[in-house]
Amino acid sequence: MDTCADIVVACKKLESTGLNRGASGNVSVRDGDWMIITPSGVPYDILDGSMMARMRINADGGDWEGSHKPSSEWRFHRDILRNRPDVNAVVHTHAPFSTVMSIARKPIPAIHYMIAAFGGPDIRVADYALYGTAELSQNIIRAMQGRNGCLMANHGMVVAGKDLTRTMWLAGELEALANQYFHVLAIGGGHILTDSQIEETARGFESYGVQSRGEAK
Ligand code: 13P
Ligand code: ZN
Repeated sequence: MDTCADIVVACKKLESTGLNRGASGNVSVRDGDWMIITPSGVPYDILDGSMMARMRINADGGDWEGSHKPSSEWRFHRDILRNRPDVNAVVHTHAPFSTVMSIARKPIPAIHYMIAAFGGPDIRVADYALYGTAELSQNIIRAMQGRNGCLMANHGMVVAGKDLTRTMWLAGELEALANQYFHVLAIGGGHILTDSQIEETARGFESYGVQSRGEAK
C-alpha cells in the first residue's frame, strides 16, 4: 500500500467532486507513530506523492520531514490523531454548503438518518479561530467530542474516520447533510428526527452493508 499515492488520489477526488478547490483543504493519514500530511499551498492538479510531509504524532513543535512543508493545519490533524486512537485519517475541506452553514454558524440537527454515521444526532460548529492555530485545534477537538466530524466557523469542515476511504465518504456525507439543511431552511424548515431514532439508526448501521453469507459483521 502506498499511502502517499492514496492521499494524492483522495485530493484529486476532493477537487473533481467540488469539495475542495485549488489548494484549499488538506488530508492526513496515520502511519504508525507518524502522520503523513499534504504539503501547504500546493494546488491539487500538480500534487505528487513525493511532496507529502511526515510528522511524529506525539512530538510537540512542528518538526517535519520531506521536501515540502506540511499543511498549515498540521496542528489539528496531529491533535485529532493523537486524541482519537480510533481515527487513522483526517480530511478538511472548504466544501460549499458546509462552508455556508459554518458562516451562518448553524449546527446541523438530525434532518436525515445519515447523521448517525457521525456518532450522534448533530454536527457541531467549532468556534472560530485563525487557521493553523492551536486555538483552532482545541475548538475542533471540543466540537468533535463523540463525533466523526464538525463544521469550522467561517471556514469549512473536518471529518475523521478509521481509514482514508471511510473518511472521504464522511466528507461527502457531511456536505450532503449541509446541502439538505440549507434547502430545508430555505423552504421554511422541516422535521427533526429524535435522539432515539438516531440511536436506532446507529444500531442498524452496525450490521448494514454488503455482506456475504457466513461473514456477518
Ligand atoms: P494548506 O494549503 O496549508 O493545507 O491550507 C489550506 C487550508 O485549507 C487552510 O485551512
Ligand atoms: Zn481550510
